[in-house]
Amino acid sequence: MEGVSLLRSAGVKPWAILLLPAVIVVAQEPAPVLAHARTPEGRAILLRLLFRKGLSVEGKALPRAFLTRGVEESGWVPFENLSPQGKRWALAALFPEDQWRQEEVRHRVGHPEVESVWTLAALFTGHGQNYDRLMAENPDLPEKLREGDVWRIPRSLLSADLGGPGRRPDRSQPEDDLDDEARVAAYRGMLSFGEDEQGKFAAYRIRKGEALYSSVVIRYTDRVDPKGVNELADLIAKRSGIADVRGIQPGQLVKIPVSFLADPFQSEGSSGLAEEREVRAEVRRTVRVEAGPKLKGVRIILDAGHGGVDPGARANGLWESDFVYDITMRVRRLLEQETDAQVSSTIRYPGLGFKSREAIRTPSHAAEILTSPPFAVDGESPSAVSVHLRWVLANDLFAAFQKTRGDVQKTLFLSFHADSLHPSARGSMIYVPGAALVPSTFSLGGAKTGRIVEARRSGRVAFTGKEKLQSEARSRQFSEALLTALQKDSIPVHANRPIRNVIHRGGGKWIPAVIRYSTGATKALIEVANLTNEEDAANLRDPDFRERYAAAVVNAIRAYYRK
Ligand SMILES: [Zn+2]
Repeated sequence: MEGVSLLRSAGVKPWAILLLPAVIVVAQEPAPVLAHARTPEGRAILLRLLFRKGLSVEGKALPRAFLTRGVEESGWVPFENLSPQGKRWALAALFPEDQWRQEEVRHRVGHPEVESVWTLAALFTGHGQNYDRLMAENPDLPEKLREGDVWRIPRSLLSADLGGPGRRPDRSQPEDDLDDEARVAAYRGMLSFGEDEQGKFAAYRIRKGEALYSSVVIRYTDRVDPKGVNELADLIAKRSGIADVRGIQPGQLVKIPVSFLADPFQSEGSSGLAEEREVRAEVRRTVRVEAGPKLKGVRIILDAGHGGVDPGARANGLWESDFVYDITMRVRRLLEQETDAQVSSTIRYPGLGFKSREAIRTPSHAAEILTSPPFAVDGESPSAVSVHLRWVLANDLFAAFQKTRGDVQKTLFLSFHADSLHPSARGSMIYVPGAALVPSTFSLGGAKTGRIVEARRSGRVAFTGKEKLQSEARSRQFSEALLTALQKDSIPVHANRPIRNVIHRGGGKWIPAVIRYSTGATKALIEVANLTNEEDAANLRDPDFRERYAAAVVNAIRAYYRK
């Protein structure tokens, strides 16, 4: 959700916002590293190491003993399909200067433009997610690889295929299977509160497989952006007397200053905790809405974040706009094909229409918000205008639905995004409109939208306290249904509190305008993946993954309306 600052600033000064550059530069991916190697029988084989995609080996003439399964149609065999013997051979061929010792492998970085800590972790330990363990083993080396650096990979980290114990990334914890409320309660139960000369703190003891970034900062505070997480991890480490963040062992006691705790973890008697409890009670009280067969009577508005001059977040050679647009189009098609729900979009890429694509190669530069008349997202107006027009249009469509005797309880607004968080975080995160952050009234002023019919008709919103609470509760229920559907299809979900009701960055707390001002009974902003995480980025690049994601969203909508 790059550009949240645009969304946030809307509440204060709607149009005082910087323009995004109109030209989008897509970084050229570095050329692959190619190497020739001979098999034991003397046949020449080509190996290829691709930026962010890993190592693959030419399949023809590869000895059977090097393979665990047949050669794919492309002719290339991905590293993970090689046998233990094949893996050892391929790594030795690609990295001839590596030293394989009894107790460790000493890997010399030869191709810093293509290698990364993640890639090394994937190749040598079997899981890219072990990258922070690899970093902890090499505390003096920078995360950005340099040619000639020698990385130690101890046998204890090597994959089973390479003669190590094959440790899986130990990220699952007992509470991962609980529902959101029980999980948050379990997290809270692991804290104890205290006070020392530096003030009040919540104490947490690091468990096996946990890191300060994810298991403390991302879980117990509202910080998820890389800078915020790193800064707070450093602060907490210092406060806890920890010299090296990367060397933390299980059992280490960390002290989190109470002022940084997210609402659910604040101390008894605080207003934040009281609000959290009120929302939880409302979720329990709220009876699910039931729709007709095949979602008849449900009004759904789909919003794909960014677009036009605004590509959104960028990392790993991907950019947010086109990829989330594609998922949104797939959701749209599935809903149209399989249900009787009434579906509309807020945004359209004129070159594509509402079609999905297999390959996404370059950023689309044209997009229009489907107001009357359509509003081009071309940078001529401040970006916040196009953000506001999304909820304005959706609210206008919901109002029209109500006029034709549609049931306002059956209105759903979904906005699709992808974020760029700390690279250790992966999977989906869902934002719901925190009741405390939704204003009682808001009017979209300004000459910029004067021509637009919907802005004149639906540019003003008002919410009662009860409505705000009800809305957060319904949105949380939907988010739970979505998490269940994603997990059922093994689609990664954020490991620490995947449902959030606040964005906390820099000095500000807010919730994105598209859901903050939406009059939909149920709404959510879905961060489908973390672009900064290499596995998430690879998923998003894969059209099959985007289709599976869309299908899970549709399953979630069905489950939510009990259909
Ligand atoms: Zn976004």
